Amino acid sequence: MECIFCKIACGEIPAKIAYKDDTLVAFHDIAPQAPTHILIIPVKHFSTIQELTPPDRELVGEMVLLANRLALKEKIAEGGYRLVLNCGKHGGQTAYHVHMHLLGGRAMHWPPG
Ligand code: 5GP
Ligand code: ZN
Repeated sequence: MECIFCKIACGEIPAKIAYKDDTLVAFHDIAPQAPTHILIIPVKHFSTIQELTPPDRELVGEMVLLANRLALKEKIAEGGYRLVLNCGKHGGQTAYHVHMHLLGGRAMHWPPG
């Protein structure tokens, strides 16, 4: 297994875990871009969000709902937060295992550069 996020999901590589169950893992980003920066990943490996298909709709929904719960836990829900899914080269994806960024704790700009 070459994928670093698969290794984090199975505990082979350490990470600061924020949440874990049989289908999802959330852990703090190694290079945080905001006071709170958590990555939410499915345990199952998908390289990009393009690989997701209709049977995965519940999984994708659970990722968003987990982000909402973690935002409350991290006390960033009231101030507001951002969920980001980067896909491929132009999307700025660097880790090729589907992940959702949960960013908060400071104001963020739009549009992105
Ligand atoms: P992407 O650019 O693919 O959307 O985001 C990948 C994210 O994964 C980056 O924010 C990067 O800092 C984070 N990351 C890469 N390798 C590791 C790692 O080994 N551990 C943790 N916790 N985060 C990582
Ligand atoms: Zn993987």
